[in-house]
Amino acid sequence: MNELNLKNKVAVITGGAGVICSEMAKSLAAQGVKTVILDLNKDAATAVAGAIEKEFKTPSIGVSASVLDKSSLEKAKNEINNKFGDIDILINGAGGNSPAATTKVEKMDGTEKPEDSFFGLQADAFDKVFDLNFKGTLLPTMVFGADMVKKKSGVVLNVSSMNSFRPLTKVVAYSAAKAAVNNFTQWLAVHFAKVGVRVNAIAPGFLITNQNRFLLTDEKTGEPTARGKKIINGTPMERYCVPEDLTGTVLYLISDLSKAVTGIVIPVDGGFSAYSGV
Ligand code: NAD
Repeated sequence: MNELNLKNKVAVITGGAGVICSEMAKSLAAQGVKTVILDLNKDAATAVAGAIEKEFKTPSIGVSASVLDKSSLEKAKNEINNKFGDIDILINGAGGNSPAATTKVEKMDGTEKPEDSFFGLQADAFDKVFDLNFKGTLLPTMVFGADMVKKKSGVVLNVSSMNSFRPLTKVVAYSAAKAAVNNFTQWLAVHFAKVGVRVNAIAPGFLITNQNRFLLTDEKTGEPTARGKKIINGTPMERYCVPEDLTGTVLYLISDLSKAVTGIVIPVDGGFSAYSGV
């Protein structure tokens, strides 16, 4: 039986100040991992790191960098190497959607205004969404993966989404960008397989966050909106996921429990991606 073997490992979590990734960072700290909360938002990253040190008595630092700016990542790597040594684990968590890369209508019926359909989408909004989700996974892996290849040991965990398997209505760019993350996960897993670095992804289902709360629940009544109802009806477990639901899969994929596992994407979505709706 393999042990987790995570104590004193060094993990960088990009987007680590966010809803999902701050919870992932906590679950790593609870296993004795030294965590680096890397985020565009320095104050939020420092606050998460401080809370982790207090709660888990495990070293944690907040580092400011952009996953889209290689030189800021290289600067962050120097700081991390000086404080904690080589990096063993990278969680590529920074990501997200943009309303400008989303259609207003689900399915065209010919009566809608063109700007509310596919024809109203802005190409530069696609660039932003693809950059954040795809290039924002690529660049940190280039920078932080170097330590892993040097040591012939390490793990990369990409954060995809269940919309990567089947796109969600309206959500065109973000679904495609996460599908690209899955494809890249497989590509890099093969490329790194002989140098001891595993690459996998987790595909969370729907979580309620501050950004989508009032798209899914009515602000006044707290009742589900029409889209919220559709989501729950499309989820065999009939509930939203919460960040803690991801913990077991994260620990499995970054630890020696999955020593021979590379190039996979695990959905954690209450069955959403398995269900045809009938
Ligand atoms: P969030 O918005 O709460 O957190 C994202 C964090 O990333 C923020 O702290 C933000 O400051 C940081 N960030 C943004 N741009 C950055 C950049 N250029 N460089 C460094 N940091 C940057 O997001 P979340 O909802 O917790 O999502 C985390 C991940 O999970 C994302 O990849 C998202 O696509 C994915 N995901 C979310 C859901 C969901 O329902 N929330 C579902 C499936 C997948």
